Amino acid sequence: MSEIKISWWEPTDRERQWLRRYTSSADHKCEATRSYCNAKVELGEADILYTDSGYISGDRDNRKPPESDPRWPKACDACGRSFGDEDPHQLFGKQIYICQATGGRSTLDKAPVGACWDAWWISERRKEGPTGSGYMVGPDHRSLVVKLPGNHDWHIDSRASNCTKPDDSDHFCWVRTGRPEDGTLHVGKDGNTCSAGAGSIAVPGFHGFLHHGVLRSC
Ligand SMILES: [Zn+2]
Ligand SMILES: [Zn+2]
Ligand SMILES: [Zn+2]
Repeated sequence: MSEIKISWWEPTDRERQWLRRYTSSADHKCEATRSYCNAKVELGEADILYTDSGYISGDRDNRKPPESDPRWPKACDACGRSFGDEDPHQLFGKQIYICQATGGRSTLDKAPVGACWDAWWISERRKEGPTGSGYMVGPDHRSLVVKLPGNHDWHIDSRASNCTKPDDSDHFCWVRTGRPEDGTLHVGKDGNTCSAGAGSIAVPGFHGFLHHGVLRSC
């Protein structure tokens, strides 16, 4: 990767849904993944249901098809073990986002490198009050995330793992200016910050900077 422009993504009121089965038993381990057995079949899209307080309702139990529905996965995607009656039937959903520039739609786990969004589930409770890495909100009270190569999500407004002022919540380990909406988002160390790094981001397989709306590896 050389240079990738930041793109701005906004949440929609639609979600992608899957029929999911998994083992909930603590003493069973999948022979392929060493985690729990798991299988998902994509169902399609649906309107998101919200709770009275405006949160996405994770409870889809009254909306899922009956357990006799033949579309439910029969066996683990990884090891092929058959699910038993006691294993949960879950209607699983993920919010769909839309790219303002291209109209492209995606769930956040599949968003392209350079996609930027506000982690509203963090920021919406912090619209008033302090900002800083200790609160995971930036100067505009948003909590911005940028998709990096390797499907890593960079929470710009969070605390860096090598922060040198771990007891201070008000500084920004990464100082951001500009806006992701208009291509001016810029991340550096100019302002109330700590001594961690030089404003760059490092994850397995990628090290780079976000300068003037462009993600650039180094
Ligand atoms: Zn398995
Ligand atoms: Zn810091
Ligand atoms: Zn580098």
